[in-house]
Amino acid sequence: MTARILDGKAIAERVREDIAQKAAALSQQGVQPCLAVILVGSDPASAVYVRNKVAACEKAGFRSLKFEYPAETEPALVLAKVAELNADTSVHGILVQLPLPPQFDEDAVLEAISPAKDVDGFHAENFGMLLQGRESFYPCTPWGVMRMLQEENVKIEGADAVVIGRSNIVGKPMAVMLLSKGATVTVCHSKTKDLAGHVRRADIVVAAVGRPKFVTGDMIKPGAIVIDVGVNRLPDGKLCGDVDSASAKEVASLITPVPGGVGPMTITMLLANTLLSAQRSTAK
Ligand code: NAP
Repeated sequence: MTARILDGKAIAERVREDIAQKAAALSQQGVQPCLAVILVGSDPASAVYVRNKVAACEKAGFRSLKFEYPAETEPALVLAKVAELNADTSVHGILVQLPLPPQFDEDAVLEAISPAKDVDGFHAENFGMLLQGRESFYPCTPWGVMRMLQEENVKIEGADAVVIGRSNIVGKPMAVMLLSKGATVTVCHSKTKDLAGHVRRADIVVAAVGRPKFVTGDMIKPGAIVIDVGVNRLPDGKLCGDVDSASAKEVASLITPVPGGVGPMTITMLLANTLLSAQRSTAK
């Protein structure tokens, strides 16, 4: 079997067009969706992520605000900016780019963002709402995966799903989202015994490990759907996922590429959350 490639870039473009139309309609009513991004320090990867987020906002017709601070900034200054943005009714989403420099308590900064503007979906209140199956802002990467599966009409109910990775940003919320749609979910991590045995039983595999080519074709059940969240930089500078795509493609039925799979969906769902926040603000 040669797997079909699940083109995240194409899905992201379609979803972003729809978001841009809705943003234009909202702007005509006098509410232009606005995302505020805070960047502390000069980590080159973070600078690229922020640039991409701001560019995506502008392309979708959103307003974007960018606040940059040097690495040695006192946390109190950033917390004061977050408080100011929380109070600004023209701002619908607030994002603090991670990682923060060592003097920061990241949890404290994320918790300072109003849950109503937490478009990254990292606030404990929103995570709790997700766990309870209630409406909230969902973390963008796993929500993007769910949207891709939905666009491809993948049957989640009754499926055996394995998520590799248990981070707060990807693995845990991914598992909860699959569970809430009726999958039987196993979460694997660095302490899992017989990880390959678990993966071999899965109809849907989501790899969020951060290790290049960790999942190989011999670990995959024939016909399984394989979602590769990993983004790893190889010594030659090329990007590579957590799945060994060459061997996995021969066994899976559907597989996401890296790049061009989950990545484009993450920023798309950030736009979706910001639009949702702006729409909610009009209902108040
Ligand atoms: P993370 O916080 O480092 O978590 C990695 C998870 O993988 C942990 O739960 C860890 O287990 C598990 N793990 C590590 N080594 C393992 C091993 N040998 N066997 C089994 N499990 C192992 O990473 P993350 O933030 O979730 O990100 C995961 C990957 O997704 C990274 O490559 C990241 O760059 C990528 N990512 C991509 C996007 C996107 O938009 N495409 C967004 C976010 C992240 P323990 O908990 O036991 O340590």
